[in-house]
Amino acid sequence: MEVKLKTRAKVNFSIDVVGKREDGYHLVEMIMQTIDLYDVITLCDTPEKGISIKCSSGIVPSDSRNIAYKAADLIIKRCGVEKGVKIDIEKRIPVGAGMAGGSCNAAGVLVGLNRLWNLGLSVEELKQLGLELGADVPFCIEGGTALAQGIGEKLTALKDVKDVWIVVCKPNFSVSTAEVYKSLKLDSVGTRPDTGRLLGYMEKNDIKALAGGMANVLEGVTQSRYSVIAHIKDKMMHQRALGSIMTGSGPTVFGIFKNFEDAHKAESKLKAMWEQTYLVKTENRGVEFNEG
Ligand code: ATP
Repeated sequence: MEVKLKTRAKVNFSIDVVGKREDGYHLVEMIMQTIDLYDVITLCDTPEKGISIKCSSGIVPSDSRNIAYKAADLIIKRCGVEKGVKIDIEKRIPVGAGMAGGSCNAAGVLVGLNRLWNLGLSVEELKQLGLELGADVPFCIEGGTALAQGIGEKLTALKDVKDVWIVVCKPNFSVSTAEVYKSLKLDSVGTRPDTGRLLGYMEKNDIKALAGGMANVLEGVTQSRYSVIAHIKDKMMHQRALGSIMTGSGPTVFGIFKNFEDAHKAESKLKAMWEQTYLVKTENRGVEFNEG
């Protein structure tokens, strides 16, 4: 038996850090949005035990370091499954980009194996397992538009942000999320988002106000090391973006556009300088089965 899924990337309309737990984890407030940029995962079950990974990206490990492997291992152990699985990952989401490329693969494997092996786990149970793999994994399971609090696991679904055109641009290097959080000085962050106000704009479908009010407290950390972040944001704004910020811990920058025409023009301009530039739309689902 085989199942095939799309596992979608996200951007953050905002990231605020509101405190730190005793164990060192940061307490966050983030507005998360799924976009229609996805990896395709095929899961094929095998009668003999064992997990094997095939990944189209040469820079992602194809062994137990792959988060998709870890997700399969976790569900096999927790549910006492006596079979194995072959996991094929067709990578389209940039790696180490702040777009939850790894997290959504883990989410896809949990959801896919739950179906492949009829394990009967609820969405809540899948999210709990997901949290053991990474703070963004629970969000990636359902996706859409959500407010994430706690360490990212307390999710409140928000009204869909429908059909908004976004240009995503990743410069040609990656950053480590852990390093960025380590360098963050809570008492000296620059612009912080007004999360309550942004939620109000979203409720009213005021995309222009949302775009103009977006902010990410991690941006200052990454930008202080890589000035290209500011450069890409300037380009986005020059190309008529309604607003532009860095997503996650970076280095990817995205801009929100009024319509397809503006977004398409911006994509062409930015792609000439940064190859990993994509024109995408907001999506209301995270993991989706590829039926038929
Ligand atoms: P995330 O929120 O998932 O950390 P990200 O875009 O910041 O998103 P990833 O693309 O997940 O970062 O990659 C971070 C690291 O994880 C890379 O070093 C990569 O080699 C490793 N990794 C392990 N498994 C995967 C996977 N299935 N897809 C992408 N990266 C993976």
